[in-house]
Amino acid sequence: MIVDRQGRRFRNLRVSLTAACNYACSYCVPNGKRLVAAQDELSGEALARGVAYLVEAAGIERLRITGGEPLLSPRLDAFLAAVARLGLAEISLTTNGQLLARKLPQLHGAGIRRLNVSLDSLDPEAFRRIARGGDLASVLAGMQQASAMGMRIKVNMVPMRGQNLDQVLPMLNYCLAQGYELRFIELMRMGHLARDANTFLQQFVGLDTLLDAIGAEHAFEQVDAPVDATALRYRIPGKGHFGVIANESVPFCRTCSRLRLSSTGWLHGCLSSSNRHYVGDLLEKPRHQALPALQRLLVKALADKQELAFSGGVTVMKVIGG
Ligand code: SAM
Repeated sequence: MIVDRQGRRFRNLRVSLTAACNYACSYCVPNGKRLVAAQDELSGEALARGVAYLVEAAGIERLRITGGEPLLSPRLDAFLAAVARLGLAEISLTTNGQLLARKLPQLHGAGIRRLNVSLDSLDPEAFRRIARGGDLASVLAGMQQASAMGMRIKVNMVPMRGQNLDQVLPMLNYCLAQGYELRFIELMRMGHLARDANTFLQQFVGLDTLLDAIGAEHAFEQVDAPVDATALRYRIPGKGHFGVIANESVPFCRTCSRLRLSSTGWLHGCLSSSNRHYVGDLLEKPRHQALPALQRLLVKALADKQELAFSGGVTVMKVIGG
């Protein structure tokens, strides 16, 4: 097993199926232009082989499928069919929910029982201003259908001053009522926000501000979370839970166990590092040839992790998956 001096190892793999997205969220892309798929994206089979090899080489236990928007990818079916055979403890998917209703049978059939749906506002106008695409009603309907099929839903919201801060309580109350767990993600200095400190600072909402806003309406208490969890978790007695991914306020680099594989075959050991390691060619090789080379690259990818705290990264989230 590959372990670093801080005792960290890769347990959670995120695979981006495509860089393409049908949204152009303000925190993800600067100019409102939607990203299209990269020309050299790997096949679903090659990406699934990547998962299989990384399970062996790194001890991956859990897989999250992401993007871009994974439900847009023409590789989704082939990838799902291949990873369903790997016997992983958990496969989950992060989506903006726009195409969720129509893809649910495939997702359920592949054994996916956990979804993270990104939703930044229940106000249609603010929703479109932030997402710059999509339709709120489709997202809400998709979540309701998924929930009715027994899927566990977490909703990801990035609270931003001047954009959707007024939505913190409406979003929380909606999620509590529906049985979804809302997770607030502190705005991250990624992509254009890593270069534009003014916009970042103007919009950033930290943990304390968030908890104050929630405390105005709900009594809550912090509960335990797994040691490598990114989210702080809170219980509102009798009503449900919510979480906060407090990258800035309470950094979690010391216990980070995430590894990312991009749709074009690059391994990323850390969101905050511009280092990446090409494995696309290895995924075409038989296992006995690929694994030793992969292990050497994994040592480098693990060394890319920050010691303490996220310090920003120029990589755009939708290229490597959130
Ligand atoms: N398209 C899918 C979706 O919308 O969930 C998956 C990809 S998206 C990049 C994954 C997550 O990253 C989303 O929940 C999004 O809110 C989050 N994200 C992207 N850029 C971010 C930033 N600068 N700060 C905080 N969260 C960010």
